[in-house]
Amino acid sequence: MKEAARQARAESRIIGLVPTMGALHAGHLSLIERARRECSPLIASIFVNPKQFGPDEDLSKYPRTFESDCEKLQSSGVDALFAPEPREIYPEGFTTYVNVDGLSDRLEGRSRPGHFRGVTTVVMKLLEIVQPKFAYFGRKDAQQSRLITQMARDLNLDTGIVVCPPVRESDGLALSSRNVYLNAEERKAALVLYRALEAAKNELAAGVRDALHLQGVLQRTLGAERHARVDYAEVVDAESFEPVVRVNKPCYVLLAVFIGKTRLIDNLYIEPKSLDSEDLVFHF
Ligand code: AMP
Repeated sequence: MKEAARQARAESRIIGLVPTMGALHAGHLSLIERARRECSPLIASIFVNPKQFGPDEDLSKYPRTFESDCEKLQSSGVDALFAPEPREIYPEGFTTYVNVDGLSDRLEGRSRPGHFRGVTTVVMKLLEIVQPKFAYFGRKDAQQSRLITQMARDLNLDTGIVVCPPVRESDGLALSSRNVYLNAEERKAALVLYRALEAAKNELAAGVRDALHLQGVLQRTLGAERHARVDYAEVVDAESFEPVVRVNKPCYVLLAVFIGKTRLIDNLYIEPKSLDSEDLVFHF
């Protein structure tokens, strides 16, 4: 991979990288489409990164669909697939990690200790191996994209981090490789995440700015679904991911909810329509 990337760089080509854990869906493919418009060669990676799974998480169960992933990548115009083995990425004696302080400890990081250290370490390695001009990530994982952008800035990386909007099913459920864990009843119940985000949006559109009030709306909407158990439902500053009191700057409504045994995350990004504007724009 290093040799191929080196050669492309020597030819002054614009390398794009789309890192994934496989089990590809239309969300991944949207990143690939965007990258294909901006880069050539376009490289995708598939690596189910053991270091971002906690001891009680779903590493061994995580969906692996390598054959059909390869077909999807081929028909979407990816030039090369990098699919290393865990021992290539983490040879014996591996001891060096990348950690983004502070931001890694909140929300997802609090619920999943060590998760983000695993993410930033593997992304740093992938970026170092490929040295792409641009790397593409999904805002569906809002905190993750924010952390990677921070890491790239802090470590003077030459890769531009491009964050792309989430792709949803027609009924609003955000696509996720983990959706395959849901049975039919849970699949219906999973819509409560989208309903909660919509409920928050409706309040905001009606002029509510108080974060505590919004949190009440989120909790009530999520609490009405008997298959749902809330991990967190927060309104946070889009830069710091610290809770806000009022929504008058770029913010996220962030949700992490167990539907049965499956943990799903989703978010709504909110920003003022323009500088000094009271009106908000909503990005699902
Ligand atoms: P994963 O395979 O889950 O690690 O995801 C690989 C990349 O795809 C990450 O940057 C995710 O944020 C992004 N991604 C996952 N789900 C979606 C989605 N529904 N829409 C857009 N991007 C997504």
